[in-house]
Amino acid sequence: MNKNFGTKYIGAHVSAAGGVDQAPMRAREIGANAFALFTKNQRQWVAKPLEAKTISAFKANCKMLGFSAEHILPHDSYLINLGAPEEEKLEKSRAAFIDEMERCHQLGLTLLNFHPGSHLNKISEAECLAKIAHSINLAHQAVPDVIAVIENTAGQGSNLGWRFEHLAAIIDQVEDKSRVGVCLDTCHTFAAGYDLSSHEACEVTFAEFDQVVGMHYLRAMHINDSKSTLGSKVDRHHALGKGAIGWDCFEYIAKDSRFDAIPLILETIEPELWPAEIKQLREWHRQA
Ligand SMILES: [Zn+2]
Ligand SMILES: [Zn+2]
Repeated sequence: MNKNFGTKYIGAHVSAAGGVDQAPMRAREIGANAFALFTKNQRQWVAKPLEAKTISAFKANCKMLGFSAEHILPHDSYLINLGAPEEEKLEKSRAAFIDEMERCHQLGLTLLNFHPGSHLNKISEAECLAKIAHSINLAHQAVPDVIAVIENTAGQGSNLGWRFEHLAAIIDQVEDKSRVGVCLDTCHTFAAGYDLSSHEACEVTFAEFDQVVGMHYLRAMHINDSKSTLGSKVDRHHALGKGAIGWDCFEYIAKDSRFDAIPLILETIEPELWPAEIKQLREWHRQA
């Protein structure tokens, strides 16, 4: 295992109720030095533009509490399908994604986490992956600086991005490779069939990710245990140590320097446990 002398950036997906400028305080309260948030209602297509005073309050709160852009991971709306088979839905998704990216840019943020897309059994996997890559290219042309961070999925329904090969195929077709990355969700990885339930299993799975995609594309992680079993393709998060993955995986990530410098975001199901989960991860990091 790599000796670890860097800093670990650990947090959770916090609420932006009352305005995005409230999120940094909620992250601070749980002992986080990283966080994720939605910059608009994740279940609606359109949102009113961010107000100038909200933008400046967000930036001021982040600065005051020591959160920097590379450790803040905004997540896009659940409605967006960047690989949608139907032209009308695809156009709507692309416009909404560009709006999400623009909101990130306005907030001074540099990452945008999204689920790649679904073929809905109407087009081939390859066609869907090509549409997703083209959607990213269009967003890059429309908005500067922000990195498109593709989240791996559990493989539920017709969602793509559950195989590392899917992620590699998308990245391969993105023109600006400096503005594309991956967020690995431990629950999704495990549900998709990549074992993480022991240090040895983690070693194998991350070696495969490195070989197929490349560790240098890893820009963030979602740290979740899984209620569902290995290869179940069912996306059900659990509190750390309470699911089918277990503590070994999270100890491995906390102690391995390859996971330094990127935001490690809890999306676990018991927010009251977040402070304890963050504390435990930090404890292991100190021991490394
Ligand atoms: Zn996730
Ligand atoms: Zn999930």
